[in-house]
Amino acid sequence: MKLLYTHENPILVGNAKNIVENSGIEVIMKNEYVSGGIGELSPHDTWPELWVANDADYERAEKLLQKAFNQENTKEWRCTHCGELNDASFDFCWKCQSGRM
Ligand SMILES: [Zn+2]
Repeated sequence: MKLLYTHENPILVGNAKNIVENSGIEVIMKNEYVSGGIGELSPHDTWPELWVANDADYERAEKLLQKAFNQENTKEWRCTHCGELNDASFDFCWKCQSGRM
């Protein structure tokens, strides 16, 4: 069993779980319901964790996640107002300040 992904935001970990599970890879969530106990544990210890049940699936699962998250977070977008190409991290066009569509 290998740790595939962990994040402080349980929604992101849940998304990752769905992506990997939809490809037929068996995964296990840990710390999914831990919310109390902060103070005794370091905050990082309470992050939800996504584990791959079979080590043989790990590489495939990792690639799936990389692909999925890249599509969401690192895609450039073209401004509908001025046509400028903007970096994925911008919410507003750097050239004309129009909002991202
Ligand atoms: Zn623009």
